[in-house]
Amino acid sequence: MSLPVSMGRLTAESAVSRAFLVKTRGRIMALIVKKFGGSSVATTEKILNVAKRVLGEKKPGDKIVMVVSAMGDTTDDLIALAEGITKNPYQYTREMDMLLTTGEQQSIALLAMAFKTLGHPAVSLTGPMAGMKTNSVHTKGRIVDITPDRVHEELDKGNIVVVAGFQGADAFGNPVTLGRGGSDTSAVALAGALKADTCEIYTDVDGVYSADPRIVKGARKMKEITYHEMLEMARLGAGVMQPRSVEMGEYFHIPIHVRSTFTTTPGTIIREDYTMEDKDFVIRGVAHDEKVAKIAVLGIPNTPGIAHEIFSALADANIDVDMIVQSIRNIEKNVTDMVFTVAASDLAEAKKVVDGVADKLNAVAVLIEEDVAKVSIVGAGMLGNPGTASRMFGALSKVGINIDIISTSEISISCLVKGSQLKEAVNAIHDEFFPNK
Ligand code: ASP
Ligand code: MG
Repeated sequence: MSLPVSMGRLTAESAVSRAFLVKTRGRIMALIVKKFGGSSVATTEKILNVAKRVLGEKKPGDKIVMVVSAMGDTTDDLIALAEGITKNPYQYTREMDMLLTTGEQQSIALLAMAFKTLGHPAVSLTGPMAGMKTNSVHTKGRIVDITPDRVHEELDKGNIVVVAGFQGADAFGNPVTLGRGGSDTSAVALAGALKADTCEIYTDVDGVYSADPRIVKGARKMKEITYHEMLEMARLGAGVMQPRSVEMGEYFHIPIHVRSTFTTTPGTIIREDYTMEDKDFVIRGVAHDEKVAKIAVLGIPNTPGIAHEIFSALADANIDVDMIVQSIRNIEKNVTDMVFTVAASDLAEAKKVVDGVADKLNAVAVLIEEDVAKVSIVGAGMLGNPGTASRMFGALSKVGINIDIISTSEISISCLVKGSQLKEAVNAIHDEFFPNK
């Protein structure tokens, strides 16, 4: 597991106790962190609805911390505003953070007012006021420590505490944002530091599904999924949560409840292990990623150091490489091909880098394919089920879909297929593992 850097102080605390339970007159009171995303607070009407809902569901004595994102598309609008000044505002990352943090500052003020208007005491706190300490990497900051003393104080005064997501401050007091979608991470990390009982992420989908419900009609909402499986789903293309927030949940052992802002049905709980759901299914879900591209470097010498040459050049350019296949094209002549995938957004840059290396290596050709997509199955259950890969491949072959590259991890198997066949591929695999009842 990759751990947040330098969180030593939090580790010690969270090891001692992770539940913040106060027993009074036989009733257990809870500390709950509730995060509402931008679409949930897009208008003042929606903000009022959020406040009404939270007050309606709040049990007496419960301590509530709200973490909110900027209203609707505010963050995008702020970026567009900066683009009115300069084509590339991200060259001024500190000023971008100064600008972007205002988005969340609007929504916390309005939400705190909404609670007050409805008759409940509340107070808004910016990320820094809530004790969110980050490194100094502007626009892609990481939380390094959280000292939520002020949050505790305000809770003890009976307030609902409304905290700005997506932001903290570095050691010099500069505002730092946590990367797009960072409010999830703020919420889970704060829940960890406060030793909250649970962290609820309210969003416009009502949970984590066994496949994208927009593509697969029979996709099932999962009651539970483990941190590892959720991280793997996210890595392989499922966009429900910022992956870092799931890492935080695991680190702090905070169960994360992903649920809908607009309905009260229970969503999906991301936690260490399953508690109630049967473990009948070998896999938890089918993830897909259309935003990939394939690069093939053909006819290069099959000698030590060649792979290093290609991939270190890509690493130097900060380009992540995903699936890699090296195949023998001509044993006698000792010539090989190297095929791999990158994120579609990195393709142009990757091509430039690879062309340079290919020239040096006297490669026969560099081929690019953009009509590719990755379909993956994820599930810890596949470890003890040797037939899982063959079932996946069988499902694809039944519908005549060719597999271009295969890669595996401990709890996932991925196939690269034609982009135009992705939808069919996802459905075929889903039908195989989640047959209609
Ligand atoms: N407002 C920020 C964004 O749009 C953070 C978030 O929504 O989580 O990326
Ligand atoms: Mg947002």
